[in-house]
Amino acid sequence: MVLLGPPGAGKGTQAARISDRLAVPAISTGDIFRANVAEQTELGRRAQRYMDAGEYVPDEVTNAMVRDRLGQSDATGGFLLDGYPRTADQVAELDGMLADAGQRLDAVVEITADTDEVVTRLLRRAAEQGRPDDTEVVIRRRLEVYAEQTAPLADLYAERDLLVQVDGIGEVDEVTDRIMTALEPRLG
Ligand code: ADP
Repeated sequence: MVLLGPPGAGKGTQAARISDRLAVPAISTGDIFRANVAEQTELGRRAQRYMDAGEYVPDEVTNAMVRDRLGQSDATGGFLLDGYPRTADQVAELDGMLADAGQRLDAVVEITADTDEVVTRLLRRAAEQGRPDDTEVVIRRRLEVYAEQTAPLADLYAERDLLVQVDGIGEVDEVTDRIMTALEPRLG
């Protein structure tokens, strides 16, 4: 499955919980990029300037990384993608990866939250944890990029009857329950 939603909607938090409940790995492109930046790998060096500016890392870099990750053995029985796909090109690439592996998506969960709420949450996280892309200017840019490039993917997946929308406002447990309830009819 795929988790969609704006920065600050709670994708990472919910991904960890759903991954536990469904016993499939949660694959976060943001986490993989940050780990590579921390370790100063070649991939990290290519990604960092985009991340620091709140821009998307170029599709060819991101797609290659995800293809590699989905090819690892723990992903053969299913997986949850957090933060991918984020562009129409990434959707097409993912379609190709799934077709090659004989897999298909069961659901795309969009966690919704209004802009004021996500800005408040991200600024709080900035104060507590200090992620480099959590400054107000960069947060605004990330939200803009999301609205332009990623929000339209919800319509695309709705046309395929894969989209499940879940309200991301409320207690963490409450949101997890909403997601699990919404997923039930879709998971065999
Ligand atoms: P958030 O959802 O809070 O914006 P993430 O942790 O998911 O943050 O991602 C952090 C950064 O990593 C993004 O701003 C972007 O630069 C890069 N990134 C993550 N996923 C992708 C992707 N699918 N395509 C391009 N860039 C990505």
